[in-house]
Amino acid sequence: RSIRVAITGRPNVGKSTLMNRILGFDRVLTGPKPGLTRDSVEADCAWEGRQFTVVDTAGRVRSSKFEHYDDLGGQVAGQANEEAERAVHFAHIVVLLVDVSKLLAGGTALSSYLTHFEATIAANALRHGRPLIVLANKMDLVDGKSPEEREIVNKFLNEGLQNYQGVKCIPVSAKTGLGMGFLFPAVAETY
Ligand code: GDP
Ligand code: MG
Repeated sequence: RSIRVAITGRPNVGKSTLMNRILGFDRVLTGPKPGLTRDSVEADCAWEGRQFTVVDTAGRVRSSKFEHYDDLGGQVAGQANEEAERAVHFAHIVVLLVDVSKLLAGGTALSSYLTHFEATIAANALRHGRPLIVLANKMDLVDGKSPEEREIVNKFLNEGLQNYQGVKCIPVSAKTGLGMGFLFPAVAETY
């Protein structure tokens, strides 16, 4: 009965921080499963009477396995495929985190950051009929940036994964909690 939500994204985009944020959000949390620890990857939540199970799919895998996402070699392609398969296997809805501070570091070309990994996750989710929500995380790092840099982020928020029709892109900060109130409404609406 529970709506299963996969939290996916490259290493260090903030998946664990987001899980902790959800767990700490007392209006959402109904109680972790017995034995929930730092290493656990699932959390049961409720929002407006609906049950959700949020899963950090990468949490089951040794992080060393995912260290080289940013390379575009064949081995990396295999890992992106694996992660994409895990997300659709575990969940009804796929949430893809992107670190917007990396967009800034990557310059004006969105494609310099949004590469094979994001495309693989998105395409696989939609191929399996899973709604996809993109979270533009670490928005707190955009404050104080130049107008040019903010424009790069705005472009991403507006156009994001434009090849994937109807994908919602929500600006958040898992660290500060910014935008978190939009996550469950978006999930519930998408489902
Ligand atoms: P994971 O590998 O995807 O699980 O990423 P983590 O949750 O471990 O976060 C990686 C790093 O990014 C940590 O140092 C976090 O504190 C930091 N981080 C996560 N979310 C945010 C955010 O919204 N803003 C900022 N500034 N840092 C964040
Ligand atoms: Mg993690």
